[in-house]
Amino acid sequence: MLTAGEKAWREKRLKEILKWEENSPYEDFIDPAKIWEILERKKNPDRQEILDIMAKARDNASSWAMLAPEEVAALANLKDPDLWEEIFETAFWIKNKVYGNRIVLFSPLYISSLCVNNCVYCGFRESNEFVEKKRLSLEQLDEEIRVLTEMGQKRLIVVYGEHPESDVAFMCQTIERIYSQKFGNGEIRRVNVNAPPLFKEEYEEIKKVGIGTYQVFQETYHPDTYRRLHPKGTLKGPFRWRLFALHRAQEAGIDDVALGVLFGLYDWRYELLGLLYHAQALEKEFGVGPHTISYPRLEPAVNTPFSVHSRFRVSDEDFKKLVAIIRLMCPYTGSILTAREPAPLRQELIRKGGVSQMDAGSQIAVGGYATLKRENIPDKQQFIIQDTRSIEEFIFDLCKEGYLPSFCTACYREGRTGENFMPLAKHATVKHFCIANGILTFQEYLLDYASPQLREIGEKEIIPRYLSWLEENLAPAAKRVRELLAKQKEGRRDCHL
Ligand code: SAM
Ligand code: SF4
Repeated sequence: MLTAGEKAWREKRLKEILKWEENSPYEDFIDPAKIWEILERKKNPDRQEILDIMAKARDNASSWAMLAPEEVAALANLKDPDLWEEIFETAFWIKNKVYGNRIVLFSPLYISSLCVNNCVYCGFRESNEFVEKKRLSLEQLDEEIRVLTEMGQKRLIVVYGEHPESDVAFMCQTIERIYSQKFGNGEIRRVNVNAPPLFKEEYEEIKKVGIGTYQVFQETYHPDTYRRLHPKGTLKGPFRWRLFALHRAQEAGIDDVALGVLFGLYDWRYELLGLLYHAQALEKEFGVGPHTISYPRLEPAVNTPFSVHSRFRVSDEDFKKLVAIIRLMCPYTGSILTAREPAPLRQELIRKGGVSQMDAGSQIAVGGYATLKRENIPDKQQFIIQDTRSIEEFIFDLCKEGYLPSFCTACYREGRTGENFMPLAKHATVKHFCIANGILTFQEYLLDYASPQLREIGEKEIIPRYLSWLEENLAPAAKRVRELLAKQKEGRRDCHL
């Protein structure tokens, strides 16, 4: 039950939100009838059409272009298993062309689960009394950061519910606190944010504390479904307020913004087109598309029947397809696969889906890292996660398959964000930075945090392999990386290009 104070805060804010919606300057870009018409028209794509789309997606990997809605619809409707294998190969090829064969690691950090909303699928919804809701004190936050830093993590996504106690002032205070901490040789160097939509002036405050990416998942691009799952009278109810959340962030100067759909709320094929129209709308308005796309899949949550019974739950087979299509659709965008998914599927999707960023060693209960438990704590979590590997185990599995684990945070700290970052990604040259900085940050991890076994495979196989790749492709960068690797061995840290 909300207190009178919480209710008053919600009502006041809702009024301001509805006023914004009334005066919103932006043109709608989601037309459900049109999306369904395209999906229907492209119901039975022929083989040649699919081959042409794959060829175009490969070309797009070194240009500015995304696929067209009709092309995405054709891929989403394809059934032929042989052609699907080719699409998976194409997804992997594109990912390597743009970013190289590295996986960027991050960890989620839930700072507050207090929430005045009532999203039907979420364990943290206000009316769910079976899940404990809490907010970290600054001292508890320090403890979480200590554990995360000592795990070797450098990059976080911090998560907040929507509540007067986790308003923009609290968000700024906690983000500043995170950046101020140092433990041993390590510190958190990039804080991305997953939080409710804000007003432009609030985003300006957030920008000042130096965040990386701002993520707002639309959850579903189907307005009727959206309204059913996000009750009227709550702050998440107004569809257009959320749809243009990242437009307002861009206006406020936050130029790395991130899209996402919660797959399982509505038809996955429809949602893919929703994501595409959203990416196009951002490109059109600001010349900068989404920095990343996430595709969380609905997971069970305590006392949340919808999370297990939704009729749109996505099978593993369809999930693999949608991840690969996102890679073909928007080649320059980072693609985030979370620990909601089981470990074997995650390993498979690196190869088949062209994934570029993954979380590792994740704990999603508020205060969960400090308890040092590996398992889920369901009555403290928003949902259950499937991949409970430690960061060390996760990295070991990446190395066994020849990938380069990366803790790189260089681009945004060197000003390669938004319109400065996009040309590098769009012309597939960012990978020279990705590989160089991946090698350096991986060595830093090996020196400070790895077990002897991991250090062996990292130093003997992975680093030499990627150094020779760099040597062949960009010899001056390889020379510089060798110099910095030597300096790191002498004790220097945070070396990057
Ligand atoms: N409260 C903020 C908001 O709603 O924008 C932060 C988001 S929430 C803490 C992070 C994301 O988790 C949501 O945007 C949603 O996509 C996802 N999520 C919620 N319930 C989920 C469930 N049962 N399974 C998987 N993901 C879920
Ligand atoms: Fe609150 Fe976000 Fe959960 Fe909705 S999804 S109930 S807004 S924490």
